[in-house]
Amino acid sequence: MRHIAIVGSGPAGYYAAEAAARAWGDEARIDVIDRMPVPFGLIRTGVAPDHQSIKGVARRYEQTALADNVRFVGNVTVGEDIAVDELRDLYDAVILATGAPEDRALAVEGAGLANVFGSAAFVGWYNGHPGFATLDPALDGRTAVVIGMGNVALDVARILAKTPAEFEGSDIVAHALDALAASRVERIAILGRRGPHQCQMTPKELGELLHLERAVPLVDPADLPPPAEDDALEPGQRKSSALLREFARTEDGKPIVIAFDFFASPLRFVGDDNGRVAAVEVEETALSDGRAVATGRTYRIPADLVVTCIGYRSAALPGVPFDEREGRFVNVDGRIAPGLYCVGWSKRGPTGTIGTNRPDGFGVIDLVKSDIGDGEGRPGREGLDALAQERGLDIVTFRDWQAIERAEAAAAREGSPREKFVDIAAMIAASQRAP
Ligand code: NAP
Repeated sequence: MRHIAIVGSGPAGYYAAEAAARAWGDEARIDVIDRMPVPFGLIRTGVAPDHQSIKGVARRYEQTALADNVRFVGNVTVGEDIAVDELRDLYDAVILATGAPEDRALAVEGAGLANVFGSAAFVGWYNGHPGFATLDPALDGRTAVVIGMGNVALDVARILAKTPAEFEGSDIVAHALDALAASRVERIAILGRRGPHQCQMTPKELGELLHLERAVPLVDPADLPPPAEDDALEPGQRKSSALLREFARTEDGKPIVIAFDFFASPLRFVGDDNGRVAAVEVEETALSDGRAVATGRTYRIPADLVVTCIGYRSAALPGVPFDEREGRFVNVDGRIAPGLYCVGWSKRGPTGTIGTNRPDGFGVIDLVKSDIGDGEGRPGREGLDALAQERGLDIVTFRDWQAIERAEAAAAREGSPREKFVDIAAMIAASQRAP
């Protein structure tokens, strides 16, 4: 028998669990541990609420979660309730699938001003993450600046631009829907320190901006490289470039503008007398071998709200070697040490699609297989349960989560799949309504 603990129940965690369940069948017991009482990590609180088809992948994880040899252990924080080293004593293999929940900080003056947020916080707010549900961003100003040109920046800009009707069928939480309905934002500037050919946004997501009810995307034609240069791009980037060219031709006939500001590197945030952000000072850049080079020319962009979307970092865990510069665990192809592994964003950093985690999950189980053989007769989940009882931990099971899920579905506004609980106590209370 092999005892496997997977820490984190997002895509990386459940693909690894699926791979382990397939690799050993009844010859393994797999515990998927999460600090939240609810599973699926990024699928629940990262993927945009108006991208329900992407969230549908959770059904696949559910199949894994309900397999006989897999168990969900919710509401247990590894590193606080139980140490990684304790888990390593209990299980043959411990796989960290803890993602990248923290913002990469933009280290500029004024980063601490009010109404400046990182994307983990802002996305967490509109997605009902218990850690950010009370963020309460002020949307009473006319201008918002979103920093970074990846898909997260696009999510944030699109969510800020949508009408309440455009959230039909989404699972955006009520507090965000209400705040956005009262928003006065008219200009959303997306700042990129490089040019159109260097932006990380993918075509499908960029294309959505052409179909917004009250907002248009806008690109300054002067920022576009000569069309012939598109030929050297790979197909996805070429499509993105074509869309950006289309944005340079869109009519400015709608009340909200989503303006792409290329070659603009943030220098500092400027506050008003109340300590709230009022502008972003940027430095114009030029490209040199694909890199942004400062030109010394600066200008200011009005900003009543700022959201930095410049990437994420994993959270360090006591006793696990961490690469501070890269913001992830020190590992070689997923192996931190024999018996301790990482997978997904905590292994390779915050890049790629949700699907990228599948080969990652199968890859880490291949490593585990070659390291642990038939297992060493460790206590596994019985040991964890004994420790949990000793420490008074209130484990939430997958069946408990299904009760939470039913309660969320029952509370949904018309057309929405669910109204999420946004605090942990409410989730746990709902789980105990189980018949
Ligand atoms: P990302 O794609 O890596 O984009 C980060 C952006 O931040 C880049 O434009 C980068 O510019 C910029 N940046 C970094 N440091 C900066 C600085 N100091 N000053 C100014 N700009 C800076 O990251 P992400 O948007 O967080 O997305 C993470 C991953 O999730 C990506 O793989 C993304 O595709 C995926 N995702 C997918 C979807 C979807 O498919 N619908 C939705 C959301 C996220 P440089 O390029 O110049 O470094």
